[in-house]
Amino acid sequence: MPNREPAPAVAKKLAKLGLRSADDLALHLPHRYEDETRLTDPALAPAGKAVLVEALVQNAEVKYRPKRQLVVHAEGLVLRFLNFYGSQLKQFQRAADEGQLVRAYGEVRPGFFGAEMVHPRYRVVAAGEPLPQTLTPVYPSTAGLSQYALRKLVLEALDEAVLEDTLPETLLRRHALAGISESVRSLHRPAPDASLAELSERRGEAWRRVKFDELLAQQLSMRMAYRARRARTALALPSNGPLLKRFLGQLPFRLTRAQSRSMAEILRDLAQPHPMQRLLQGDVGSGKTIVAAISCLAAIDAGCQAVVMAPTEILAEQNLRKFSAWLGPLGVPIAWLHGGLAAAEKKAVVKQLQGPAPVVAIGTHALFQKKVAFARLALAIVDEQHRFGVQQRLDLRRKGENRSVPAPLVPHQLMMSATPIPRTLSMSYFADLDISTIDQLPPGRRSVATRLAESGRRSEVLERIREACAEGQQAYWVCPVIEESRDGDLRTAVDTFELLRKELKGLRVGLLHGRLPADEKAAVMQAFASGRLHLLVATTVIEVGVDVPNASLMVIEHAERFGLAQLHQLRGRIGRGSRESVCILLYGSGLSETARARLKVIFETRDGFEIARQDLLQRGPGEFLGARQSGAPLLRYADLEQDKKLAEEAREAAEKLLDEAPQAARRHVERWLASRHEYLRA
Ligand code: ADP
Ligand code: MG
Repeated sequence: MPNREPAPAVAKKLAKLGLRSADDLALHLPHRYEDETRLTDPALAPAGKAVLVEALVQNAEVKYRPKRQLVVHAEGLVLRFLNFYGSQLKQFQRAADEGQLVRAYGEVRPGFFGAEMVHPRYRVVAAGEPLPQTLTPVYPSTAGLSQYALRKLVLEALDEAVLEDTLPETLLRRHALAGISESVRSLHRPAPDASLAELSERRGEAWRRVKFDELLAQQLSMRMAYRARRARTALALPSNGPLLKRFLGQLPFRLTRAQSRSMAEILRDLAQPHPMQRLLQGDVGSGKTIVAAISCLAAIDAGCQAVVMAPTEILAEQNLRKFSAWLGPLGVPIAWLHGGLAAAEKKAVVKQLQGPAPVVAIGTHALFQKKVAFARLALAIVDEQHRFGVQQRLDLRRKGENRSVPAPLVPHQLMMSATPIPRTLSMSYFADLDISTIDQLPPGRRSVATRLAESGRRSEVLERIREACAEGQQAYWVCPVIEESRDGDLRTAVDTFELLRKELKGLRVGLLHGRLPADEKAAVMQAFASGRLHLLVATTVIEVGVDVPNASLMVIEHAERFGLAQLHQLRGRIGRGSRESVCILLYGSGLSETARARLKVIFETRDGFEIARQDLLQRGPGEFLGARQSGAPLLRYADLEQDKKLAEEAREAAEKLLDEAPQAARRHVERWLASRHEYLRA
């Protein structure tokens, strides 16, 4: 903070902006600039553009038609204020008496009396008062902290800040970077000849340096977390154990090239005496589960334990079924920890995990989170990791680190995600993980035909369902979650279920939603998976992971209410068998522009990565990753899409700096991320 500590109330406002130190303030850069260096004649002001005008005040009065308002008449200019203080009326009346001028900044519009401004920012000045020489910076602020007060604090801090360069000369030269002090200073106090366009669009050398520093700090922080973890000891799990070899010799199907490659990357990591921290990403249905199962065998062969956690019980149960089918015949013990267990059973499972015997434990992550200690946890797998929030990711990483025996060993970690992340984002947000990508679907997959239909064509859709089921196929009917009411989700699904049951007499219809008790959910899912149900009415609980190859038809009601990633995931539930599959997107009338754009993408595109890229373009990274995932506004100045090249450079530089000048790296992270660090490590 500047020498004079700000009052506690102000400090609190600053903290809200993430500003805790003098350096923070100095690095709080303008988000735009206003040009007050030139006066514009009100009569000639261009439409739709803010300008500075000046005019002699003539009189001021409060009018009551059409609404109470303060109207100021100046020479060739009228100002209107709908919200105002009595003191403002007096101020203008005095100005009129004393022949003073009003200098106002804002948009000028043609009004009844000529040029008019509504609620401009203004000052009363004497004739001949000089204009500012430079562009006026405008800072991101928060309620109750005026632009004027914030600007004053920032500029004071700037004057006191030293801002010595955290980066070595060689690095600056290699990336042709301007000095940080000059750059920051010139952004706060632009030179008289600075270009408004360049500054506002964040182009030019000064912005380039600032963005580079910010991107570099982010990379450094994540790579530091990566290296710190990597420096710890884990049990090396050899990949030539008997179970692993046997399983590879009798796989239920031939692995795709992408699966083999990912498997090799994982097994290579596991064989190291350092904890793996790897993300396995692959589109829905790309076959991540078998790769996970193979990895578990490496742990079992080493006489250790592995755990496979999923975000929902339905997914956990599905993992259980697959693991049992694949690993059961090899005699691998599998522990199933689920919500339906009676207390005594649960205790027995927990006890089993505390014992030294090898086991693959399967369940939801919530269940493992609660007082489950592993005696010999060597591998932790997190399925559908994108469904977990930042805090959960942190917790999961710590899981087992303190309690597992032998104490200093850290379990290897494998995250799996079906949400493809565009490269620009993964480079930044998953820089603390190694990434394997399954970019290929198993052979024989039928593509899914997507149809768009207005909800008025419901009866045709019902006919299709009857036909498909008559041919022995199965179908999903997905209902949207209605945000406004807390149990709307449930009601829509229940109502739809009741209605469809009547409309589709003769078909066996089931209902699945998040509020059902765990054992009922499992029973319904089981009934559908085994073919006893024709149609499954469901909410988005089936969004991820559910795998029923015989289901070849999906109807998504109110498809316009779903996000792109969700639609893609949902559609991924079909097209898993040998039959041609169809996904019908029903939409309501009165589509918004954005909803239309979303449906267009999902209709035209099948590739998960391309959909993710479109999604990112439509929503921006913060929303794309979800507030929980991104944690905090990590990048204030740089834009991963626009500054792609710079991000690449920062990535390279981070690695080099960590190797060659770790002290400088630490100082750099301190400066930029002191208060945001924990989020970045998630
Ligand atoms: P996801 O990556 O979405 O978790 P799964 O692991 O559930 O995908 O696999 C989807 C389906 O494809 C499963 O039924 C699985 O058994 C099957 N499968 C996976 N790999 C192959 C393969 N190489 N050949 C044939 N079928 C495969
Ligand atoms: Mg899966």
